[in-house]
Amino acid sequence: MGRMCWKKTCVGVNCAALLSRSNTQSTRARLSVHLVAREESPGPQRAVLVEPESNPEVEDTRSPLQRFRTKPKKPLSVTDLVSPAWCELQYWYNLSKFGRKKATPAMKQGSAVHKVLEEQVHEIVQVRPKTKEDVWGLKIWNVIQGLRTLRLTGMTRELEIWGVIDGQIVNGIIDEISYSCPDPDFEEKLEKSKAEAENGAKAALPSNQTSIADFLHNTNSPSQESGPWLGNPFPERKVYVTDVKTRGSKYMPKGVSLRPTFYQLMLYRMLLDALAANTVPADVIFSRYSLTPLKPFTPAFIEEIEDLDSWKENIPSTDDLSDVSREFYHELKTYNNLTALWSLMMTEFSLAMSGSASISDVLHAEFRWSKTGDIIGSELFAYDTAVLQKYVGEEMKWWKGEREAKGVDIEEAFKCRICEFADECTWRKTKIEEAMEKHRLRLAARAKSAV
Ligand code: SF4
Repeated sequence: MGRMCWKKTCVGVNCAALLSRSNTQSTRARLSVHLVAREESPGPQRAVLVEPESNPEVEDTRSPLQRFRTKPKKPLSVTDLVSPAWCELQYWYNLSKFGRKKATPAMKQGSAVHKVLEEQVHEIVQVRPKTKEDVWGLKIWNVIQGLRTLRLTGMTRELEIWGVIDGQIVNGIIDEISYSCPDPDFEEKLEKSKAEAENGAKAALPSNQTSIADFLHNTNSPSQESGPWLGNPFPERKVYVTDVKTRGSKYMPKGVSLRPTFYQLMLYRMLLDALAANTVPADVIFSRYSLTPLKPFTPAFIEEIEDLDSWKENIPSTDDLSDVSREFYHELKTYNNLTALWSLMMTEFSLAMSGSASISDVLHAEFRWSKTGDIIGSELFAYDTAVLQKYVGEEMKWWKGEREAKGVDIEEAFKCRICEFADECTWRKTKIEEAMEKHRLRLAARAKSAV
């Protein structure tokens, strides 16, 4: 029992180097504790888990949603929605043949880097929840802790989020949320172009009509006061979303290879926006996960949290753990079920973010070398509601079985060269045959004109 070990959890990554760099780079104290169920691997699950098909020889006419993401199976994740942006058919092959996207050695190294980054901000402590509701109590508590860490230090990592998209529950884990703008010049230009577009739209509005932006600003900006748990040293600050990508090579991705990251960041922003505006229906989320929201957390679980104090002697680096566990113990007794704890989480959201308007449209992707965790470079994107809605609408059509999965366009054929399904891919075979037919017709036309 006890704190997860750095070295045990690092898979071929020079974690000691990454950790020592981070300690010199930042004076940020790890005030937060992430509690994870003992049976689970530490931290929220990143892998896409789906049960394999029992008889792949028999044609299954159900939609991907019905086959892979309907109760009792897990709901959709952000990964489910953005992975097809690389190749939808490849994702389909992964789901239908293996039940999930297989974890490669590079992905395992990437997970190790993420783990190191998480532990720079949160102590990971294992506990033994007794019921599903206890497990979810931990999840919600970790979000509460993450939001408090954001308020106190200006940054948090590994924040789990949930929302509803097109009637489906979607969850994800945001790598990093910060009050620091990754590029003020980029933001200034973006704000300027938005203001110009808004002024143009306002000019076209009747004088008695409020613009959407004004409406959202007025309704979603609660006054920012210091919270009950701690003061807010970052009042009225913008919130910036960062996604950390690990790469096996030291080269930055370009062009279409950045597309999944762009959609991923936009989805995170959209889901975070809904939570900050308190528009996510908790009852629908709890129902999807078959939870009883008013069922009290088990006394044994609450007692174990109280006993966390005794772990302090095993965790000499954390002076604050006993305070945090004591506080969690008292809060679990006060907010003794999921509905109550969710409402506390909403209060924390309102304290950490002043509604939708505080979430920046500047989206940040940071690329790190998976071997060492070193930063290779970064990319900035501008949030675009229309682009996101179009993409998500198209993807949901596939998930709902309203259309077949598509392979890549001919311009992106480089993806097929590194695809494990290339030999059997019907899409690729058809494209090759089409290209050969075109070539044959061109040759025939040339031969005819030469006669
Ligand atoms: S071979 Fe190409 S089109 Fe087919 S699944 Fe792989 S990447 Fe997609």
